[in-house]
Parts: sequence; structure tokens; C-alpha cells
Amino acid sequence: MPELPEVETVRRRLAPVLEGRRLERVEIDDPRVTRPFDPQDVARELTGERVAQADRRGKYLVLRFESGRALLIHLRMTGALLTGANAGPHRRAILTLDDGSEIAYRDVRRFGTWLLLEPDEVETYLDARVGPEPLADGYRARDLAAKLVARRAPVKAALLDQRTVAGVGNIYADEALWRSRLHPLTPASQLQPEEVKALHRAVREALRRGLERQGSTLRDYRLPNGEAGGMQHEFKVYGRGGEPCERCGTPIDKIRVAGRGTWYCPSCQRL
Ligand SMILES: [Zn+2]
Repeated sequence: MPELPEVETVRRRLAPVLEGRRLERVEIDDPRVTRPFDPQDVARELTGERVAQADRRGKYLVLRFESGRALLIHLRMTGALLTGANAGPHRRAILTLDDGSEIAYRDVRRFGTWLLLEPDEVETYLDARVGPEPLADGYRARDLAAKLVARRAPVKAALLDQRTVAGVGNIYADEALWRSRLHPLTPASQLQPEEVKALHRAVREALRRGLERQGSTLRDYRLPNGEAGGMQHEFKVYGRGGEPCERCGTPIDKIRVAGRGTWYCPSCQRL
């Protein structure tokens, strides 16, 4: 599932294509994309909107229009935005811009969502669902500590909660916990200040690395030009069960935390 590095990579690639352009024609072929709203209604509302900014909050791609409205696109499992119309049989929608270029939306498993919000709804909607941006300049260890202090849940579960820190999902949570040498089942509220500092640093490092490699392609994630990301070649623990830890050589173990497959080093990351 695309996490912050993947969505931010898509945003950076699409911003120059979209910003300043008017949506000349909008076609949404799958009612699941916009449900519970009628896809034809949403397409009609979108037509004529001019993109002021291609933004991102957490895992949401936020197309902000000059009108003040915004389209929130969440790619969920397998959503992808591709330039050019050749998106194959799983194309669910297509945007035609006023310069004739096209952006297709492909989604194999159809969990992705498009939500058009009115100007006064946008920030309220996002603030209720998305916590602080971990790569923002002002993001401090104390911001993370404030979110973890009252949580009895395992630290891995707390990280997956988008209100704790925006954009971290299963991959980058495991990578950050390995980097900070924390066991995924450590109760969040029991972390010592030094451990929270290490985790804060590790979350940022893991996400930055993912961003540098333009995200990780396990199966469906693609850059808008169809290329794959490269981060999957650099995972320290994610999906590497049985392989040696690069720090200590101990085989990476897999457990379940908060219902998600979770990889960690049983020697470096002790409970
Ligand atoms: Zn290790």
C-alpha cells in the first residue's frame, strides 16, 4: 500500500503536469471510486475546476482548486495515477486537462477513493484524520512523544494510527522500529524519552530514504510514468523473514501486531 514516500513521489511528478491546468473533461467509470456519491455527479462538479496546487497530507493526495474546493485521492491498496491514457483494463477514471494531456486512474482491487470537498470542509476533514507531517521542518521528538504518552497499544500499532504521525504504514513502521532498535510490541506509553527521540529520528530517516528511492514497488505501486520505485531493494526488515539482520546477523523474525505482518530483529529489538 502506498505510504508517505510513494504518495509524495506521485505528487512531485504530477504537480508540474496539473498545477495551473483546468480539468477539461472528467470521466469516472466505477461507482466505488466516489461512493456514496454518484460518479457522474462528481465528474460534473470537477469539470472546469482549475488546479491551484497538488498537495499531500499523510497518504492523501490533495488536489486544491482555485475555487477553494479540494479533491482528496486515497490510493489505498492498488490505486495509481498514470500520465497518458494507457492504464489497461483496470482504469477507473481519466482526467483530461486543458492542454490535452491525460491522467488515468488505475485501481486493480478498487479500494481507492476520490472525495470532493467544499472549501470549508477540507481542513476539518484532514485534521480529524491525519496527524503531524513527519518530514515537516518543525516536527520534533516532543510532538511524537505527546501522541504516544497516553497509548497503551504496542508502538507499532500506534505508528499505524494516522493521527499519531501522518503517512506511516506497515512498511515504514517496521523499518523505523528496526532503525530505532525498538520491539514492535513495546507499549507506546512505556517508551523512555531517549527511545522516543530515536524513533522520531528513525521515522524521518526511513521515510526520507524511501523518498530518495521514489518509493517501494512490491506489486502495484508505480510512478506516474509507469516506472517502479527502488526502495524495495533496501528494506532492512520488511518482508525479509529468515534473512540475516544487517547489524547482527540474527535471522529476521515475523510476528503479527495489530493484525499486520510485522518483521523485526529478535536480537537488536528486544522487548
Ligand atoms: Zn539485529
